[in-house]
Amino acid sequence: MLDARVTEGPLVSIDEPPKTREPDDWKTRLGRSATSVAALVDRGVLSAAELQLLDAVESRHKTFVSDYYLSLIDPADSNCPIRLQAIPDINELNDDGRIDPDPTGDNTHRVNQALIHRYPNRVLLTPTHICPMYCRYCFRKVALNEGQIRYQKAVPAALEYIASKDQIREVILSGGDPLILSNKRLGGLIDKLSSIKHVKRVRIHTRMPVTFPYRIDQQFIDALGVSHRIYLVTHFNHPRELTPLAESKLEMMRNAGISLANQSVLLRGVNDRPEILAELYNHLADVGVRPYYLHHLDPAPGTTHFRVSIQQGRTIYRDLLKLLAGPDRPRYVIEVPGGGGKVDVDSGAVIEMGQPGRYRMTSPLTGESIVWLDPSA
Ligand code: SF4
Repeated sequence: MLDARVTEGPLVSIDEPPKTREPDDWKTRLGRSATSVAALVDRGVLSAAELQLLDAVESRHKTFVSDYYLSLIDPADSNCPIRLQAIPDINELNDDGRIDPDPTGDNTHRVNQALIHRYPNRVLLTPTHICPMYCRYCFRKVALNEGQIRYQKAVPAALEYIASKDQIREVILSGGDPLILSNKRLGGLIDKLSSIKHVKRVRIHTRMPVTFPYRIDQQFIDALGVSHRIYLVTHFNHPRELTPLAESKLEMMRNAGISLANQSVLLRGVNDRPEILAELYNHLADVGVRPYYLHHLDPAPGTTHFRVSIQQGRTIYRDLLKLLAGPDRPRYVIEVPGGGGKVDVDSGAVIEMGQPGRYRMTSPLTGESIVWLDPSA
């Protein structure tokens, strides 16, 4: 079974009695995940000595790694990029005092527990705070650790709000990971959104095709329904995540008519080399996934060890562009602190101000300029 902290509440996807499940269905498989540091010790991923050391990390940031994602770790490589993304690390305690628990300003634009309205024509709907893996670099780490969303109350209110604002053309489902919802709940939510006339597209952001591809099956495809309105954004960060299983699930979704794109986060030690990113984006292009964003890491608590400076990021990106054909290039973007929207890092919207690491950024939402000190410079 899943960890009790993860399964409580009505939003949980594992909502059928175990006896009705096939032994290899996705819920049963996900139930075999490691949900604590102790479980990672049991599986030989961490040593017994690390158990106590990581106690403080675990109390701040949840642990959850599927058997599948664990199997991608190279045990001979202590800097394995898969391991770095999934396994709790003592460096997560190294906050430096220049960190905002809400680095993208979600709370500034929050309508309710499950809805954020930042841009006029689109909203972010987060029906859950549960993920099938708690990525160690996640900018929503604090929010994910703080309780859960009350689905039955927050989501209907969010739907009412969306229906009342006819400027909203797009609803972005994020989380947590929205694919942790059961097919019944996810399909019902998409049906309700599709019945709102002015909502032209539902964009789903998920890391499930990366961390737990078993989630994608025919029942999932059926639940989404074949619609040009569905757009799914995957979050592959490293070419080793594009396994034959993941590829087959991408193909399944593509064949069902779902448009696919990918966004990555630029992460120190994981993918901060142009040739790694080029391999990833070339491979994604080969399997029909369009490039979307390469994100500069938002400075969230517990993620300092993943930071790349703006200067390094620009160099990496410029070298990456030389290795990719035009249609295969992601946009390298950063969120203007405080929820000011995304801007291209290698553009006039991010200007260095004489002193190294001091930048002026202009919000595309308000036109306001802010001065920002790069914490990694
Ligand atoms: S799946 Fe997404 S929301 Fe969940 S921990 Fe990973 S990056 Fe964060």
